Amino acid sequence: MRHASIPVFVPHLACPNDCVFCNQRRIAGTQRPPEDPSEFLRSAVQKLSDRFTEVDIAFFGGSFTGLSKPEMAAYLRPAAELRRADGRITGIRLSTRPDYITPDILDFLLSYGVTAVELGAQSMSDEVLAASRRGHTAADTVRACELIKAYGFELVLQFMPGLPQDTPQSIDYTVRRINELRPDGVRIYPCVVIKDTALCDMYLAGGFTPLGVDEAADICSRACELFMSSGIKILRVGLHSSDLVRDDSVAAGPFHPAFGELTAQRIYLRRARRLLSGTRRGEHVKLLVAKGHTSKMCGQHGQNLRILGAEFGIRLKVAEDPALKEYQIERTSI
Ligand code: SF4
Repeated sequence: MRHASIPVFVPHLACPNDCVFCNQRRIAGTQRPPEDPSEFLRSAVQKLSDRFTEVDIAFFGGSFTGLSKPEMAAYLRPAAELRRADGRITGIRLSTRPDYITPDILDFLLSYGVTAVELGAQSMSDEVLAASRRGHTAADTVRACELIKAYGFELVLQFMPGLPQDTPQSIDYTVRRINELRPDGVRIYPCVVIKDTALCDMYLAGGFTPLGVDEAADICSRACELFMSSGIKILRVGLHSSDLVRDDSVAAGPFHPAFGELTAQRIYLRRARRLLSGTRRGEHVKLLVAKGHTSKMCGQHGQNLRILGAEFGIRLKVAEDPALKEYQIERTSI
């Protein structure tokens, strides 16, 4: 089964909000929605390779449910028609804000066969949300999550550690609360300073210090471990270059082209530490990991193995065992 997503950028020209990290107001006009959503989707589906047997149509880039119903319908109607006509299209997903979710809106989405709703929760601290000018509270997120789940949609939460006023405690609290809300999946985007944003002005004036890459990878790896232990899918960690309007859009903060990989390496390092605790110094140990996960276990330039070797005074080798699942590690003596 090969999964693919057809992304449709829906600009949020009508967004009345002004989140400090978002450049949508200042870049308004540089990103355009498809002129004819129906034609855009039809042509994207036609170009899909036969390899894909499970395809999502994903409306992203703004707060979809902030659009008027006729505007939403202009996107959802062709998506629903294609879904009925082509068995490969199994999902229609969209992203929005917690305060743009009501029973009336969810009834409307259901009538077009929408399957997943992604909410920009960002933080569960009201202080952080206010400092980021999100314009909604953590209670709005809780209400929206409960409604979305009651309607039977797949629920995905987006979480942005490192916002203004965030502290290690507020980040831990947000991770715990998101975990308690039991979404089906999460996307974690550590806050980066994008040029042409209020956050960038704050940063340049010395009023905001973003997380470093290592710090952000550590936070994300801990969050991922907790979410995975609760069966919550990790759909994305870190921005990709393709998420940026321009290659030079980032002014500062934890942007790294392989941020997800760095986070995965941290998870392996922490898990291996737990597994190796109590190992006799001088022992030669082989760590077994899932197929294709050797580089994540070894870390950048073998850094994880060097750290573990020095901490435990042991010699380490890594091999793959196709029977193991991702992030599962077993050990044998050499
Ligand atoms: S992040 Fe979303 S809600 Fe905030 S200003 Fe940007 S488009 Fe609007």
